[in-house]
Formats: sequence, structure tokens, C-alpha cells
Amino acid sequence: MSHPLTATPITTRILLAWLHLLALAVGLAGVWARARALSDSLRNPEDPRAIRRALVGDAWWGVAAIMWLASGLWRLIGGTEKSTSYYMESNAFLVKMALFLIVFALEIWPMTTLIRWRRKRAEPDARDVGRIEIISYVQCALVATIALAAVVTARGYGMRAGAAATLAARHAADSVAAADSVYRAAVVPADSLADMPESPEPSGTEVVTPDDVALLTREIAMPLDGIDPTTLRSNFDERRGGGTRQHQALDIMAPRGTPIRSATAGRVLKLFTSANGGLMVYAADSSERFVLMYAHLDRYAPGLTDSTRLARGQIIGYVGSTGNASPNAPHLHFAIARSADVKRWSRGKAIDPLPVLVGAAGRGAARAP
Ligand SMILES: [Zn+2]
Repeated sequence: MSHPLTATPITTRILLAWLHLLALAVGLAGVWARARALSDSLRNPEDPRAIRRALVGDAWWGVAAIMWLASGLWRLIGGTEKSTSYYMESNAFLVKMALFLIVFALEIWPMTTLIRWRRKRAEPDARDVGRIEIISYVQCALVATIALAAVVTARGYGMRAGAAATLAARHAADSVAAADSVYRAAVVPADSLADMPESPEPSGTEVVTPDDVALLTREIAMPLDGIDPTTLRSNFDERRGGGTRQHQALDIMAPRGTPIRSATAGRVLKLFTSANGGLMVYAADSSERFVLMYAHLDRYAPGLTDSTRLARGQIIGYVGSTGNASPNAPHLHFAIARSADVKRWSRGKAIDPLPVLVGAAGRGAARAP
């Protein structure tokens, strides 16, 4: 499982996605050309160019396979797109892998046979030519299906378990984004929290006292610039994950790349990556009573590490849609929890951030420079 501390540059991500897609196109063309040339050779066995054309198609098919595998592994293991676990939870992704293995298994015999033809160790005979032709056409169909499975994976369909709700939630988020052109006041019923570390889990020992709330109100400031918390609607109690759990956080819509500022002074506890939360920051406030969590980041602020000291207002990252947020509705998922021990950063009793932010705004919370 990868926990990249810095996001891969967008140019690399585009390049890898392009190479991966291009490989499918090149491979399809190559294996199709191989099949056609072999069929020509069957019709006219005296034509030596037909076999040569088949070998050229076969070479492109091989180049495409290497390109596809290399770019795919880089994206999967490098965590340049969704996190590795996101793919592992996707049925569509597993279907894609299974299809790839079938294509590969089907290729073993044609590959060794064609190598023998290339090295003149064997003469092409009609029976083998016919078989490889049929295998090639089957592989064409399988590659086309892989392309379909890839599109399905990227769109987030075919996720297992609670993830079915992700689909519905995403559509909800899409329509919110489309309907509401005023980004900042919009609140998304977006991310279903299918697995967790999203919102901290109560350990059972934390209690939120009025004292805690007063302290937090003195400490906190809105993590995004130019947003008046009184214009936001709380989505803390909304049911997510197909109604299986409460959201227990505040989603704040903002354009991708909007700087996210540390809401309090304190320190980074953990830079974490999860299938649902995407790139996340867990931080402690200066009193070490609270864990603040920021999710779906596009990228971290340069140089941010697991132990960075934070000033209130310091930029920690940028708004994005990593994890299960809709790409069309980038937003900050902001959660606060009363913690019995901030070293256990994934534990705590969730506190609705909105009333605290509204209280802080009423007090005229100054943002630290
Ligand atoms: Zn959220």
C-alpha cells in the first residue's frame, strides 16, 4: 500500500494516463494486423509478405504490452491516481486484471511459435497460422473489454461493499456542482465513507465538555480563505455510506487548488492516504486536545511532513478530489475530534466543525499571517 507524501505532478499523471491508453490502441491495432495478415497468409500461402506483416503486427503488439504494463504498474504502485487500495476494492479493476491474465495466457503459445518463425526454426504451417489467427481475434475482443473495464474503474463504478453507495453519492455531488454555480456556499452530500479512517472513531473514553468547545472556538479559524461560515449548512449529521454511518465532518466546496490553511496552531500528526479520504492531513491543535482532519487534498504543501509544526493560517495543502470525492466537485472534508491521546490520531469523539467556526467568526477570529 502506498502512502505518497507528495502528490505526483499533474504532467506525469497525464503522461502516464496517455501512455496507458495509447498502449491499448497500439496493442489493438497490432494484434488486429497480426490476425488479418495471418488470414491473408491462409488464403495465399505463397505470399511471403503476409507472414512478414503478421510479424510486424506482432512486434507492435509486444511493444504495446510492455508500454501498458509499465505505465499501469507505475500508476498502481506509485499511487499517482487513486490509492492502491482503491483499485483493490474495485471489482471492475479485478475484472480488468483477470482479462489481462487471460490475454497473457492466450499469448504464450503464439508468442513462442512466432519466435520460432522469426528465427527460422520453424516454417509457418496452415494449422498453426489458423490457430494464431483465431487467438488474435479473441485477444482483440478481450482488449476492447479491458478498455471498457478501465473506464468503469476510473468512474468509480463496480466498487465492492459499501462502495455501491459511492456511485449514488457521486451523482448527488455532480448534480450539486452543476446546479450550484456559487461554489463557496454550496455544501456537497458527496463522499460516502465506505471504509474508514475518514472520521475519527470514538475510543469510548473521550467526552466533549463546554470547556473544550470554548477553547476550540478561541483557537480556530476557517481553513479556506474568503468563506463566511454563516453561509454554510452543516452536513455533520448527514447519513453517508448508504445510510450506514454519519458524515461527522464539514464538506466545504472550493475550486481545485484553493489553499487549505491549518485551522489552528499545532502540529501535523500524520499524512495519510486512504481509498475514501484520498490525501489527508491529521493534525493536533496546540492544546493537544483535538485532532483536526483535512481530506481529499489535491496535494500537500511542499515540505509538509508527519511532524511539521503548524501556525494557524499556515498553508498545509490544496483542495482536490482525491479519494472518493467526485472529480467534478472538489471540496475540503474537514473533521474535528476530541482526542484522549493525539498519538492515536484516528481516534476521537467527532465535533461538528461548523458551529465552532461560526462561533469563532462571531468573536472576530483573526487569521494569523
Ligand atoms: Zn465529507
